[in-house]
Formats: sequence, structure tokens, C-alpha cells
Amino acid sequence: MKENDFNRRDFLKVLGWGGTAVALSGCGNTSIQDGQEIVTSYVTLPSYVIPSIANYFNSTCAQCDAGCNIMGRVREGRVLKAEGNPNSPINRGKMCGLGQSGVQAHYNPDRIRQPLLKGQAVTWEAALGAINDKLNGVKGEQVAFLTGGMSGHVQALFGNYMDALGSKNHFSYEAISPAVLRVANKKAYGMAMPRYRIDKARVVVSFGADFLGAWVSPVNFAQQYAQFRKGTRPEGRGVLVQVEPKMTLTGANADSWIGIRPGTEGMLALGVINALGSAGIKLPADIAAAVKDYTPERVGVNTGVPFERINKLATLLKERSPSLVLAGDAAEGYVNGSQNALAIAMLNHVLGNVGKTVEAAASVPFPQIAPTVGSRSSLNKLNDGLAAGKYKVVFSYGANPVFSAPAAMKFKDNFVKADFKVAFAQYLDETAQAADLVLPLDSAMEDWGTVVPEYMAAPEGSDADTYAQMSFRQPLMQKLYPDTRGVGDILLALLKQRKADEYKDFEDFYSYLHNAVLKNKVALGGKTTDDDDIFWDETLSKGIVPLKGVAGSVSAKMSAADLKLSPATGTDTNYPLRLIPAVSASMRDGRNANEPWLQESPDPLTTVVWDSWVEIHPKTAAKLGIAEGDIVEVASKSGSIKSQAYLFPGIHPDAVSVPVGYGHEGMGRYAKGVGANVFSILDPVFEQETGELALNETNVKISKTGQRVIIVKEEGPLGGSQDGRPKIAVQVQADKVDLSKEV
Ligand code: SF4
Repeated sequence: MKENDFNRRDFLKVLGWGGTAVALSGCGNTSIQDGQEIVTSYVTLPSYVIPSIANYFNSTCAQCDAGCNIMGRVREGRVLKAEGNPNSPINRGKMCGLGQSGVQAHYNPDRIRQPLLKGQAVTWEAALGAINDKLNGVKGEQVAFLTGGMSGHVQALFGNYMDALGSKNHFSYEAISPAVLRVANKKAYGMAMPRYRIDKARVVVSFGADFLGAWVSPVNFAQQYAQFRKGTRPEGRGVLVQVEPKMTLTGANADSWIGIRPGTEGMLALGVINALGSAGIKLPADIAAAVKDYTPERVGVNTGVPFERINKLATLLKERSPSLVLAGDAAEGYVNGSQNALAIAMLNHVLGNVGKTVEAAASVPFPQIAPTVGSRSSLNKLNDGLAAGKYKVVFSYGANPVFSAPAAMKFKDNFVKADFKVAFAQYLDETAQAADLVLPLDSAMEDWGTVVPEYMAAPEGSDADTYAQMSFRQPLMQKLYPDTRGVGDILLALLKQRKADEYKDFEDFYSYLHNAVLKNKVALGGKTTDDDDIFWDETLSKGIVPLKGVAGSVSAKMSAADLKLSPATGTDTNYPLRLIPAVSASMRDGRNANEPWLQESPDPLTTVVWDSWVEIHPKTAAKLGIAEGDIVEVASKSGSIKSQAYLFPGIHPDAVSVPVGYGHEGMGRYAKGVGANVFSILDPVFEQETGELALNETNVKISKTGQRVIIVKEEGPLGGSQDGRPKIAVQVQADKVDLSKEV
């Protein structure tokens, strides 16, 4: 790449360092050829390969967006397992079960192995040619690109491709995300994602934040939680109180679990502020006036939490400072979700926690690679455009809205209206099935990339205010299938169709990334005089690049104006129960449902495997004459599903819960037909300020179908026996793998 081929600003943008002042190092000395490696036969083994002894290569987990740093254990050229990278400030050497199952995503027998055009296998030349043809004569505004959350150099290339197309129609979608919280946090603290210091708190009160399960950066929080629980800390052992209508994994670990009436979390927060004032905490005058009517007695009636408990909670918070109060999925999933989150954030303000246990996080100095987070309101906009016939060519990468959009949105009907739909996919999930062209992706263990996490943890002893990091993802082994491609390689090929001159010297994404890193050695912690090869090798070897981030600050002020609270919506007589779609630590939004370890690993609370279930409070079940194992129909105004009833006291009697992620109609043999898709029956009710789908605002009724099963689960009166195993055996038999067809 010759820098003087086009101007410096374009050059920085091409390499992902645009939009900021960057001291380029080594300009003019780094050739594309430096980005090529010598491939040697395994007959002559590299010196570091000793048969039967594993090597470890650092990379980044791709199973969720937390961006944990991992080490791939590789033996005889095959990756066998992933471990946490002990030098990672995010996960500090640990991983979660979902991360562990990344190996199964890589070796999965249902991966797509060739480009598919209208269901027929075609060459890459034909696939890319079809995209070029379809884009011919199409204006930029008629092209839309749907992605999940993104960051790093793939995102930089993606942005450049959108510019090359002349399209601003990027829709970033996450089916489950703290989208409402981000907006509320910006108002409450001045930043969307501050650093939460569970480890520094003496008491944590979490309003439905399942930080040990599936919330934001769970492995980081689990590490902090381990510190929090140590009696040997100077602050003593921390106390955890969890407030939520349906018990989560975090709730199950809490010292005290408060089952609250759905949608009244904000009201409880105001009641606790009121009680804190009565207990002697000095409240600003405007806040005191705003909460004066939220007496514990009145709040107790509305929330279902006895007033004595509200007063006790206030005393606990007063006596154990610093504390930390969190607002999670359960609090934000309502029409008044933003207000709930703000009322909960106000507790941190009046308790003086902001700046102590709610700390400022740094932002990344390179906007092109900084994380783009997704929301459901973004999907609504795409859906409206599709319904209006605005888009002729639509791309999709890292999102599966045909599965996760409520049926009432009619997303699939609108998606198929576009002339040409292209899905970048590893499996034939529901969105890929509805596409005209499917581009098969490398697994994360075969691909190159960089990742910048949204939740920016900082290492102990660092200048935390300015610490930011970029992580590397590198292939842990050779590709399993020759005709899959990395997303960066595909974007590069598409860019070459539009801007051949600017990208012609990058043979592949690897050479692009290699150049990008070496051109910016100084900002990545090196010196201009560092040898390029040594710098590259050392950077990859560490897998984590600390960046000098832009210091943020948390604002310590909120006013009473932030405390408007509309009343929680009620149920109606036809649909008397509130539906809580539950997000589990392993299944999350269902993108990993085709990994059998995840299907087989028991849900931590119910211990159910290989199926979904309907959680019902025993009192509610008794009223409806429902027993465990009854197949019940859960019906909303938008549709109905059937699943097995599971009686569970850890849910409010006015609510029922069904886990999300099950009920796929495609994706592969382990996901298809397992359980029911609760997303499909959600009513299109939206959070009033952000336009996010209010996940907990669907009311349902439940009826028995007359069918009954033995629930396949680990727990029970037999003390965790293998009771129910035959059902699993039948399932596996029905999905027998034809090994002769395996590569
Ligand atoms: S939380 Fe788990 S799945 Fe997510 S990045 Fe970390 S190890 Fe991977």
C-alpha cells in the first residue's frame, strides 16, 4: 500500500484509524508481503509443536458480546478447548459455559460449507458476482445492512463498504440488550456503560440485573462477585439483595430475594429513597419532595413487597456504604422501563455511590473500531422501511430477526419483499433460510479480527479512567471447510468491487489487519523503531492491546425532574398473567441453540434440559389445576405456544416465564424443533422513551391441553438421578448423524 496513492485521511480510514489524530509509524516501510506467512508442511513440524503436548494461542471469545479474552488449547493442529486468558481484565482467566461451547460452534456438523444461491451451491465468484449484479443501478438509499453489535477492524471495513455503497441504512440489532439502560445511564451518569464495582460495594441491590448469568459482562461480574463475597476483604463480606419478578441465577445466589410485582421496580426504588430519608439520609430538597408520596406503606401495596421489608432494605443500604444499585433486564422491559431505570439510578446518587462503585469508563480513541451496540428500535426502523418497499438489496450479518422478532411485526413477510437478500451466516438459521444468497462464514476459531468490548473493564493498578483495550481474534487452527470465508475477507472482496484501487494491495483480510496494526504501532504500545515482525508476533501472542482511551467522567447529579414515574400497566381479565421471557446464561437470545452442550447443560434453576418450559408459581398452578409436566398453552393477543409446565416458587404469582432461545425452525439438527419460541408471541408494545420492544409487557392466559410429559431434568425427589433420560436418548436417535456424510 502506497500512502501517497490517495490522501492521508482516506488512508487512515481505510485502515480503521480514521476520525482521530494518529501518529503513523513505519509509513512506506510496510509492504503487503510482510503480511504473508510461510506455510510449512506438518511433515516438518514447527519447533514449538511436540505431538501430544498442547500449545495455547490467545484469541477472543465470540459466543457473546462481552469480548472475553481466551486461550485456545491446540494439539496436533486442532483446537480442543478454550481457557480464559489470565491477563485479561475482563475475564481474568475464567470463562462461562457458553464460551466453552464455542468449540462446538466451530466443529458443528451443520455449518454451511458453500455459498448458496436460491438454495443451490455456487462458487464464490458466482456469489459475489450476483451481489455486484443486483447492486447495479440500485441507489445507496435502496440498500440496507442489518448487523448485530460490532467493533474492531471488521467494523471499519463494514463502514467503508457502506460509504462505498452510498448507504446510511445500517441497522444494528440485538434481540436482548440493555438498550433502555444505556439511554437511562446517559441521563443518570453521563455515560451509557459506566464500570460497576461490585467488588468495592458492601451491599449490592440488583433490580433484575442477572450479572452472574447473562447480563452485560457476566464473567467479569462473577470475578468481582467472588471478591465481594470474601469475608477477608477490608469491607467484610458483601450482602446481595435481588429484586425481580422471576428468579434469575443471580437471584438464586442472593442473601435475600424479593419477588416484586412486574413493572413496579421503579416505584420500589422511590419507596426506598423515601425510607432512606426517614432513616436519616439527607436527601436534596427536590428529591425529598418528589418521593414524599412514595411511603413504604403505599409502595408496599403497589409492589407486593411488605413495607417492613422496604424499611429494612433502606436500613441495610444506609448502614453498609458504599453500596451499589443495579437496574437490569427485569426493570427495563416495560413501557415505563426508562423511568424505572432512572429511579433505580437515583438510589446510587442519594447513597453517594456515583464515583465510588459507579465509575467512569474510558472510550476508545478510534471511532471506526469503537463498538456499535444494537437495539430493537433499530429493527423496527428496518422493518418499517421493508414494509414500505424502500430497500431493494438487504444484507444481514450477526442477527436472526426472522427468529427473534415478534410474529406481530411480520418481519419475515416484509424481509422477503426486498428483491435480493444476502445473509452472512454460519448456520442456516431462519433469516438465512429466507435469504436469496447465503455466504458461509468461517467460525470464530478460524477467523481474524479485532474486538473492542462495550463494557470496558480495567486491570487493577491501571489508570482506569483512560484504560481501553482492543483484543485480537486469530485462527486457532486451519479452516475445516475450504469454501467458508471470514467476514472481513468477504467485506474486502465487496469493497474491491466498488473501490478496487484503494483496496487492491490487500490480498486478504489478514494482510489488511497486519498493515493496520503495523501502521499504528505507537498508538498500540510499540515504538517506531520496533521491528515489525517482532511487534506483530508479540501483539498476537498477548492477544490484548491496551489503548490510551479518552477519559470519561460520571456525573454526580440527578434532579427530581428525572423522577417522573408512570404507573405500571396492568393485565386484563382475558389475559391475567404477565409473561416474562427469561434470558438464560447458556441460551441467551438463541444464536447458539445448535450447540448440544448448551441444550444438554441443565438450566441452573430448573435443571431442565433439551426443551423449553413454562414457569408457574405453585399457587397460580393450583388455581388453574396445573401440575408439573402438563403441556400448557400460553396465549397472548399475538399468538400462542405450547410447552411443559414447571412449578417454581421463585416467580411472582401474577407472572409466568418462558426461556428465550428455543423453538427454532431452522439452524441445525440440535436447535430445530427443540422447545417453543417465546419471542413469537410477544405483543408489539414499546418502551415509551426509547421505542424498544417492552419485553415484559405481554399479558397471557394459560390453559391445559390435556397432554402430559415427564420433564427431563436433573433435580427431583430422586436426588438428581438420571430420571427422564430415555427422552434424551429418543431425541438423539431421531437426529442420528450420518457419519458417512461427514468430512
Ligand atoms: S461471557 Fe462467556 S460467552 Fe460471553 S465472551 Fe465471556 S466467555 Fe464468551
